Amino acid sequence: MPAVCSSTSPRPEPMIRSDSASLLGEPLGLPPSLWADTAIAAPALAALSGPQVADVLIIGAGFTGLSAAIHLAEAGLNCIVVDAAQPGWGASGRNNGQVIAGLKQDPEVIEQLFPGEAGRRLVQFGDQAPDEVFRLIARHGIPCAARQQGWIQPACTRAGIKAVRARCASWQQRGVNAQLLEGEHLHGLLGTRGYSLGWIDPRGGSLQPLSYARGLAHVALQLGVRIHAPTKVDTLRSEQGKWLASTATGQVSSQQVIVATGAYAEQLVPGLRTSFVPVRTAQIATEPLPAAMQAAILPLGQVASDTRQLLTSFRLSPDGRLVMGGSGATAGLDHSRIVPSLQRVGEQLFGPLGRLQWAYQWSGYFAVTTDHLPHVHEPARQLHIAVGCNGRGIAISTALGKQLANRVLGLSADELQVPVSSIKSIAFHRLRGLGVRAATFYKRLQDRLD
Ligand SMILES: Cc1cc2nc3c(=O)[nH]c(=O)nc-3n(C[C@H](O)[C@H](O)[C@H](O)COP(=O)(O)OP(=O)(O)OC[C@H]3O[C@@H](n4cnc5c(N)ncnc54)[C@H](O)[C@@H]3O)c2cc1C
Repeated sequence: MPAVCSSTSPRPEPMIRSDSASLLGEPLGLPPSLWADTAIAAPALAALSGPQVADVLIIGAGFTGLSAAIHLAEAGLNCIVVDAAQPGWGASGRNNGQVIAGLKQDPEVIEQLFPGEAGRRLVQFGDQAPDEVFRLIARHGIPCAARQQGWIQPACTRAGIKAVRARCASWQQRGVNAQLLEGEHLHGLLGTRGYSLGWIDPRGGSLQPLSYARGLAHVALQLGVRIHAPTKVDTLRSEQGKWLASTATGQVSSQQVIVATGAYAEQLVPGLRTSFVPVRTAQIATEPLPAAMQAAILPLGQVASDTRQLLTSFRLSPDGRLVMGGSGATAGLDHSRIVPSLQRVGEQLFGPLGRLQWAYQWSGYFAVTTDHLPHVHEPARQLHIAVGCNGRGIAISTALGKQLANRVLGLSADELQVPVSSIKSIAFHRLRGLGVRAATFYKRLQDRLD
């Protein structure tokens, strides 16, 4: 059994090393992006220094880790958060800012995979996750341009149209005020005639993602959480009922540990890195659009992600730019091959309204699991992990952070909405680059044929 999976042994256990100074080959400086240029100020933080003690150590300051820290601090626990780079450096500060309800799998699929109460709870988890986000933002007054105006999922293929009808009906049956959108109504709400059917989900909305991440960090600090960055945990081991995390500049001893390293997990916990595939997707943004184009694209403030296999997301930024994401993926660091397809889709959808001047491009990794569901693991006593938001992480990660906090606070494993599972490595994970390339090629083909 790996050292990290035993917390009761009196003997010091062999250490598990993470493998480099960067994360998954990415330098730890904040990558340039629209969000980086327009976010609220980052909190002033220092690296961990010397030996420290906490009730809970949280590794990773994205939405998952920061939400967990806030909920734990509100319950009176003494927490330390460390991040190898800075709050929001990972996927949390680089996404499209679309707050989306539900998991990647439809409710019926989840209820088949998890019959009875477990499935019902998991569906409910995805259903309620956006409200967790908007409530948290309102409770703490986080300035991140949050708007719960609804999320639109439009379709342009036969398969997509079928999926939209079924998904809308499924959520209506579960009490959501979802509506099908067709014809001129749909075109007017989107600002493009590129889709023939869609549905609107009132639970969704938008925010400035890096401002949200930094805002969560400011709230956590106000609640007494100690956040240290840049501080990368190199090793994690258990010794006499305590967890010991070592970094280049200090150590933390804690009763419990939450690992919230998202797609950027390295070798800290055995098997975690190979239990999902880190997939890179890109974002692009224009210069601020002329007033007439701003008034035509998503005029009522919704955001949209279509049903393509290689989904395309689009929204307006708070400063009136078109921000688009998706339309391709890679397992590597280079997004230069995704950006042209994304720009092409942008021109097809919104080119008729006027000239699109592309000003930004950036990218990041999100974690994809084989069942497309988020995973919660407890490979050892008092060690909690959440990973695998499958590209729907703003709401899901925030809600998962709260769930991990509740677990630390004593909620039984049976009561969790996302069930605890064991870490399972994906076969042939070494070949994931080929896998992502093949899947991207196949999905592009499906989008043309469906
Ligand atoms: C380009 C892109 C677009 C997306 N668009 C959307 C969208 O519109 N809507 C949506 O809901 N979701 C979207 N997602 C997904 C969403 O952003 C993620 O699911 C979510 O942000 C994950 O949050 P997290 O806290 O789990 O991980 P992350 O935000 O990735 O944070 C992990 C943190 O862990 C730190 N870390 C890792 N290892 C260590 C270590 N050893 N020591 C210390 N710190 C460490 C990293 O520095 C990082 O800051 C998108 C993702 C990407 C990449």
